[in-house]
Amino acid sequence: MDYQQFVEKNNILQDEQIYHFNQDEQNDFIDQKPWDSSPNYFKKCKISIASVIKMLIHACLGKNNEVMGLMQGRCDKETFIIYDVIYLNAEASEVNVTLTPEAMGEYVQMIEMLETVGRVHPTVGWYHSHPSYGCWLSGTDVQNQRIQQMGYGAFVAVVIDPIRTMTNQKVDIGAFRVYPDGYRPFKNNQNDKIGIPSQKIKDFGAYHDKYYSLDIEIFSNSIDSKIVQGLWERYWGVRLSQSILQDNQLYFGQCLCDLKEKCFIKYDQGYLVDEQEKKEKQQIQEAQKFSVELAGALLSETVKQILFQ
Ligand SMILES: [Zn+2]
Repeated sequence: MDYQQFVEKNNILQDEQIYHFNQDEQNDFIDQKPWDSSPNYFKKCKISIASVIKMLIHACLGKNNEVMGLMQGRCDKETFIIYDVIYLNAEASEVNVTLTPEAMGEYVQMIEMLETVGRVHPTVGWYHSHPSYGCWLSGTDVQNQRIQQMGYGAFVAVVIDPIRTMTNQKVDIGAFRVYPDGYRPFKNNQNDKIGIPSQKIKDFGAYHDKYYSLDIEIFSNSIDSKIVQGLWERYWGVRLSQSILQDNQLYFGQCLCDLKEKCFIKYDQGYLVDEQEKKEKQQIQEAQKFSVELAGALLSETVKQILFQ
């Protein structure tokens, strides 16, 4: 896939005005705290293509472990605008990532260096990866994000899944804000659970009504497109010659086991008929998701064989 196809597939919008930044306007906005009067004040998160590619490279370097970083940008009323991301040297595992005091020290040093070259954009969020298990917030993520929102106010949590991005060739990313403690939303994220591995469903289910998703838009302009194309050719040139099926065989294997587990649920006696129908509908959606991903990987494998042989 070349850069132009990626731009089209991910609906990346061209925006030449977005890098306008006024420190006083930003300070006024932060002082007014409009998010305090509405639990879902922020609606959208616009992310530069350079930030997306950097997050993906970082997440891929972490392999099966989660990675974490911070995001710089600004707010434009109800929209977060992310210009750049900074990698953090966090303690990571396959299920969690923690910010250490050493990593925070490195971040402060980095901010000071950036300020000396005129990069004064505030930190407006954090990102971390969920390798192969989709974009949502776990219980730990909700706690982390709540602490950040209490401290900084205008702060967004972004989650990116590098393995699903590689498999589908479409960026798998989510942006979230948590509700204030004790707030009960009218609508929750229960419908988003298709594709969440069965061992994570409990964590998802316990916290899905504690946060909400923001719409995501990826933008590009003449400033960053040259840098991104350079990164793209170097990075995706390597990825393109690799096999999605072979690279992600663990992911496809896990999906298949998971599908089996989800599709062979024994219904207890007295299980409500409409509940059973709902479960069956979800099982069909899970199976469809898996077959679309697998068919995509097989198709890409066939195209590569024709191209490279
Ligand atoms: Zn997480």
